[in-house]
Amino acid sequence: MSTLPKQANVVVIGAGIVGNSMVYHLARLGWKDIVLLDKGPLPNPGGSTGHASNFIFLVDHSKEMAKFTLDSVAQYKELGVFTQSGGIEVARTHERAEELKRRLASGKSWGIDAELISPARVKELVPFINEKIILGGFYTPGIGTVDSLRGGTLMREYAQSKGALSIFAKTEITGIDVERGRVRGVRTTNGDIQADIVVIACGLWSPRLARMAGAHIPLTPAVHQMISVGPVPLFADTVGEIKYPIVRDMDTNGYERQHGSDMEVGSYDHRPILWEPEDVPSIEQAKLSPTELPFTKEDFDPSLERALELMPEILGDERVGIRHAINGLLSLTPDGFPILGETPEVKGLWSVAAIWIKEAPGIARSVVEWMTTGAPEIDPSGSDIARFYDHQKTKMHIQARTAEGFNKTYGIVHPREQWASNRNVRLSPFYEREKALGAVFFEAMGWERPNWYESNAKLLAEYGDRVMPRKYEWDARWWSPIINAEHLAMRERVGMVDLSAFAIFDIAGPGALDYVQKMAVAQMDVPVGRVVYTSLLNNAGGIKADLTIMRLDANHFRVVTGAFDGMRDKKWFTDHLPADGSAQLADLTSAWATVGVWGPRARDLVQSCTGHNMSNAAFPFATC
Ligand SMILES: Cc1cc2nc3c(=O)[nH]c(=O)nc-3n(C[C@H](O)[C@H](O)[C@H](O)COP(=O)(O)OP(=O)(O)OC[C@H]3O[C@@H](n4cnc5c(N)ncnc54)[C@H](O)[C@@H]3O)c2cc1C
Repeated sequence: MSTLPKQANVVVIGAGIVGNSMVYHLARLGWKDIVLLDKGPLPNPGGSTGHASNFIFLVDHSKEMAKFTLDSVAQYKELGVFTQSGGIEVARTHERAEELKRRLASGKSWGIDAELISPARVKELVPFINEKIILGGFYTPGIGTVDSLRGGTLMREYAQSKGALSIFAKTEITGIDVERGRVRGVRTTNGDIQADIVVIACGLWSPRLARMAGAHIPLTPAVHQMISVGPVPLFADTVGEIKYPIVRDMDTNGYERQHGSDMEVGSYDHRPILWEPEDVPSIEQAKLSPTELPFTKEDFDPSLERALELMPEILGDERVGIRHAINGLLSLTPDGFPILGETPEVKGLWSVAAIWIKEAPGIARSVVEWMTTGAPEIDPSGSDIARFYDHQKTKMHIQARTAEGFNKTYGIVHPREQWASNRNVRLSPFYEREKALGAVFFEAMGWERPNWYESNAKLLAEYGDRVMPRKYEWDARWWSPIINAEHLAMRERVGMVDLSAFAIFDIAGPGALDYVQKMAVAQMDVPVGRVVYTSLLNNAGGIKADLTIMRLDANHFRVVTGAFDGMRDKKWFTDHLPADGSAQLADLTSAWATVGVWGPRARDLVQSCTGHNMSNAAFPFATC
């Protein structure tokens, strides 16, 4: 093995599908001096990529994730490692059949060819299915499987052919050096490398690597059980890997997928089994591989029963036996999205974690564009690592939310659905009073925010037919007509809305005006006491954020932005602070509560609480 270089332009840690996709795209965009390291041997270093089922379903309700997946499939096709088989999500219940209609709508929105099909048509496509227990299917012809190890090898070879990449297997990272908030290099079992950019593509080990640098990648390793059964007589004449569409048995959180002469059966229906990255066995300790843990049969038995109902011809055949069974490990995040981007804690340290094979090359392209130009074509903001507030990086939060989310992997999840776990983390000063008024709280990044008050139910009688009914159950879920009545009352009288979840940053210092002028689209050199509603733009002129900035003094500004954008906006502001320290940012989110007082009688209400003149003349629109 050649010796490790002393220096590199960029070090990528992890040679699973994500690390391989990263070096491929770095080389494609002209990066040189890239070093790829993995603690395991190549081409299968022992991570999750090595034992995945490798199938790719295209439709996701999230546009961001669907776009990443579609781009990935295009790339896998270009590399010649994709096999199209089609795939069907089947419904056993009416509720699921309704959800499949919504999935079709999402698919159409993202330009994916898909259709709803009858049980008889499902049977035509998958002759071994028991169509009697299903109500129908959602068929996507473009679904298929990928040879992710071969794909990874081709990607590495491409980067090497450009003279851009050196690869070192069996080289474990043991430390990451940071100086004054900037990454400086990595320490490995084979020597140290200096680098100003380090990419963590370590799958479920990523939190451990981040901790080496004092940063956070809030994910947890979790078990996903999968067995492989065979030989299946029906598959005996299959040429290649797959002939029949892959089936997702959505109501039982399971899937069945042909793999040559075998069939893989996987489940997300068992109890959540979470691990700590530190406890994952080493290559030497692991019987199979570090991410293929001993199978716990008792967890899988109920799933196998359900699979047998759907595939009796195969799973009930006595000639077909279990050939391989694992408690496979993958990564789960508290909100189900990947974790991408430069860490807020350490400049130059990038996370590309919690990514499935189905979306890896698309995500890598986006992250490399982000690293190169600052403005990736597919907007990765839903997956931005900067989205997390501190409490969301805690073990308690990660474990609570991932355990709750695990069985919803194929779930019917309403867009307004609320988490049950780890609530009441952030309470505004008004919380007790709101509770007494019968507030129904929705969570906004940890804050409990009233969405309506049961005590306002009396408004329903007052507004009668003017309250718009929602006749469809789905539309009316996680909603109350009281919201509508409160809105009408506010338009005629006055209402108070607790917006304490808003993030608040103060910017102060002699360079504050120049700085906010540079950051905001709108003119910020306004009289003291003005509030300006403005956009922030990214490097390509796209909208990065829209928010309000108040001028509190000649050199003192206050930014107020939405809870869900707060930490992303904070990183954007912080990243662009002047190097000479002439403007400083202080996060005052916990110091200030925000209340909206709205309606034609808003001024009367505020006037009743203060000696200041709150008339329109003295306190006009956009005053602070
Ligand atoms: C049973 C099962 C089935 C699955 N099926 C599918 C599927 O059908 N479709 C799909 O899209 N996804 C599937 N997945 C998920 C998929 O396998 C993973 O999401 C994906 O492989 C993660 O890729 P990665 O490159 O991020 O991580 P990994 O493949 O785990 O790679 C991370 C690498 O980092 C290296 N590393 C870690 N720490 C260090 C260190 N300190 N120094 C050096 N190197 C280090 C590891 O050795 C490893 O090679 C499945 C997962 C499981 C468990």
